[in-house]
Amino acid sequence: MSFVKNLQCRECGAIYPKEPIAGCSECFAPLEVDYDYQAISRHLSHDIIQQREKNLWRYRELLPLEQEPVVGRASGFTPLIRADRLARALGVERLYIKNDSVNAPTLSFKDRVTSVAINKAREFGLQAVGCASTGNLANSVAAQAAAAGLPAYILIPDNLEKSKVVATQIFGARVIAVRGNYDDVNRLCTQIADRFSWGFVNVNLRPFYGEGSKTFGYEIVEQLGWRAPDNIVVPMAGGSLISKIYKGIKEFEKLGLLAGEANTKIHGAQATGCNPITTAVKQRTTKIRPVKPNTIAKSLAIGNPADGYHAAGIIAKSGGWAEDVTDAEIVDGIRLLAETEGVFAETAGGVTVAVAKKLIEQGHLKRDELTVIAITGNGLKTQEAIELAPPQIIEPKLIAFEAAIGALRATA
Ligand SMILES: [Zn+2]
Repeated sequence: MSFVKNLQCRECGAIYPKEPIAGCSECFAPLEVDYDYQAISRHLSHDIIQQREKNLWRYRELLPLEQEPVVGRASGFTPLIRADRLARALGVERLYIKNDSVNAPTLSFKDRVTSVAINKAREFGLQAVGCASTGNLANSVAAQAAAAGLPAYILIPDNLEKSKVVATQIFGARVIAVRGNYDDVNRLCTQIADRFSWGFVNVNLRPFYGEGSKTFGYEIVEQLGWRAPDNIVVPMAGGSLISKIYKGIKEFEKLGLLAGEANTKIHGAQATGCNPITTAVKQRTTKIRPVKPNTIAKSLAIGNPADGYHAAGIIAKSGGWAEDVTDAEIVDGIRLLAETEGVFAETAGGVTVAVAKKLIEQGHLKRDELTVIAITGNGLKTQEAIELAPPQIIEPKLIAFEAAIGALRATA
């Protein structure tokens, strides 16, 4: 049973049926799923949610499926970790990591959006699915499509990390690398979606797919005892995640599922090598000027972010801020998180940790406030970004070990 009323244009309010539609044909703005919140509020309670399986479907009334999901049963409900050692390193008291680097099946937050999109493709009876991706979405579409028995056609930029390419091809997906950056790939993908009647998850299934991201926000609230945090620091690629987290918290408030009010300040994080949204926020505008990306944080390398305008607006409205960090700061962020909390994040996670550090130094994140840092992908996929000295090789003799450990202790 679904509580979805229809699709609605975010800008002009035009109403559309529940079908695979890429955007508003009047003004080209993205479409939002509109729900019957009155009916949901009669249906959904803390007790009902807590009795359900620990996956993203525990919030199913707020997701746009008409039928029971057939894939994505393991996705969502990732750990919210209290990060005291990282907090001490950064000079704050209450810091949490929302850790989607262990999400299932493919170790990134994209497993949330593809869970919704691939099930939706099955409901629509589509014969194939596809996407334009910077890597994580490719991994996730390929895995979920395989589990759903659907062929997948996946387009990626030709400079992606090798681990992400392998982790897409292994699922039997048809992968095509396009000479160019994500924005070039996405443009081609939109043309293909017009030509073939496939479900492109980030084109004509976009209104539905984005809804999966709200569960990242729902889980944070539930895991904090039905309270919204003071701050969330979120990495920005296309800008959709940040706006959906905000939508999720506001929905919980509207439905009476939130203890207290939704005063969460939403902060955006980008790499300096691809910072169109943070630039807009710093200039106190929502007008996004596209850039040509050049950063090791490839999963965030979207120069012309589809939801950038909306993301910048939500950051401003919520009282948040946005910052960007250099490639060197990103690597420092990855290492700091790994060495303090034992969490190995991909480059995007290095971005959020390094940006959080900067926002604390600037006073945007206050010492006594409760802050959540979003970790959206796993470091095993972006190992090329880290250069470490190889370990010393020794003979299999105790005396060799004693000599080696003496040298290691001296440098530690
Ligand atoms: Zn419109």
